[in-house]
Amino acid sequence: MTRSTQEWQAADAAHFLHPFTDFQGLARKGSRVITRAEGIYIWDSEGHKILDAMSGLWCVNVGYGQQALIDAATRQLRELPFYNAFFQTATPPAIALAELLAEVAPAGFEHVFFAGSGSEGNDTVVRMVRRYWDLLGQPGRQIIISRHNAYHGSTMAGASLGGMSGMHAQGGLPIPGIEHIQQPYWWEHGRPQGLTREAFGLMAAHWLEERILALGPENVAAFIGEPIQGAGGVIIPPSTYWPEVQRICDRHGILLVSDEVICGFGRTGRWFGCETQGFRPDLMTFAKGVTSGYIPLGGVLVGERIARVLIEKGGEFNHGYTYSGHPVACAVGLANLGLIRELGLVERVRDDVGPYLAEAYASLGAHPLVGDAETCGLMGALLLVKDKSTGEAFPEALEIGMVCRGHCFREGLIMRAVGDRMIVAPPLVITRAQIDEMVALIRRCLDLTLADAQREGWLC
Ligand SMILES: *Cc1c(COP(=O)(O)O)cnc(C)c1O
Repeated sequence: MTRSTQEWQAADAAHFLHPFTDFQGLARKGSRVITRAEGIYIWDSEGHKILDAMSGLWCVNVGYGQQALIDAATRQLRELPFYNAFFQTATPPAIALAELLAEVAPAGFEHVFFAGSGSEGNDTVVRMVRRYWDLLGQPGRQIIISRHNAYHGSTMAGASLGGMSGMHAQGGLPIPGIEHIQQPYWWEHGRPQGLTREAFGLMAAHWLEERILALGPENVAAFIGEPIQGAGGVIIPPSTYWPEVQRICDRHGILLVSDEVICGFGRTGRWFGCETQGFRPDLMTFAKGVTSGYIPLGGVLVGERIARVLIEKGGEFNHGYTYSGHPVACAVGLANLGLIRELGLVERVRDDVGPYLAEAYASLGAHPLVGDAETCGLMGALLLVKDKSTGEAFPEALEIGMVCRGHCFREGLIMRAVGDRMIVAPPLVITRAQIDEMVALIRRCLDLTLADAQREGWLC
């Protein structure tokens, strides 16, 4: 199917309603049509080569064009393209992937519930934690606490768990029984009060305890969080935060859920983000990197505390999806996790490219526009500020992040803007030389943004 870019754009505008998109705005501007990819690069229909520093949507962890994944899908499509896991049936790839996930997960995770996406995984979490407390004779424990600016997906439950005000404003969200506390974002809440990051981490964790006590612990089922908030702008919490959250959940008997949809499978330099951040969840949601995005798959890793109750006391769990344990998706998952192991990607992020990116980001921190430069594994964030010495922010209306992102597109770099935070999460296969190339592009885009700011008088 070869059509001109204009033809693709016209058909796109006429028929395709894109996710998280102003339909009219997109139709006016025309979409960028991506036609192929290899390694860490994508190409658009005009032939532009672009460095994909966002791994698609945080998912293409092994990079594009990996033959092992392509072969696994092809083989499984021929052998058995679909069979379900309802009614006491199973397929070999789903069984083997459940087994492998239990192997790579931290101790105490022996069971997996499969879904088609991260959102469906989090819907499963809501039903599972409430079911757990019902079975223990504590049906009052219904409330799940989450954070503002969290992202947990776009289904009714996923968007409710998430803390994106724009999403809550549409469609009658959040659903009942979901509460939100402030996020552990030092620049927003800690710095204005003159707190060190460590002291702020403890304070942010105590917001959870305050809310639990206000609601009554007997009404609280679980706390859910991303080890590092992704879509919210790569918010890396102070090192004191998660261990304190763990202590608080333990003290009140509340279940702890780690949404590992982005942080899982090596992104932070460990198999799961909770290992990097130092906590032991009861449930872990996964998706994205489990198949490196080659095909949709998500689910929940279920810790023994919950699995035992569901298995021994639960009877039938009235929940599941047609594609829970889809054999082709699971075959790709198996090949993907196999490749991550074979290439040693988790250790590589921890010991080699992760520290290398951290060094490069330390140097970007010296740029006049950058107020803060942080990384964890292969996630990185740059905070753009108007005044480096005081940390003063640009007026929101300038949309400084979007200005910078515009330069990135033109220069051949996919970097995402979340407010005034510029974020990256490149494929885990990225080499040191490619990190140099990415950082040079970032620096160039920062320089171009600075030139705009000087020319337009935004700095004074
Ligand atoms: C992307 C994401 C989700 C939702 O996953 P989908 O596959 O888009 O439904 C959930 N949680 C986190 C942390 C995510 O980044």
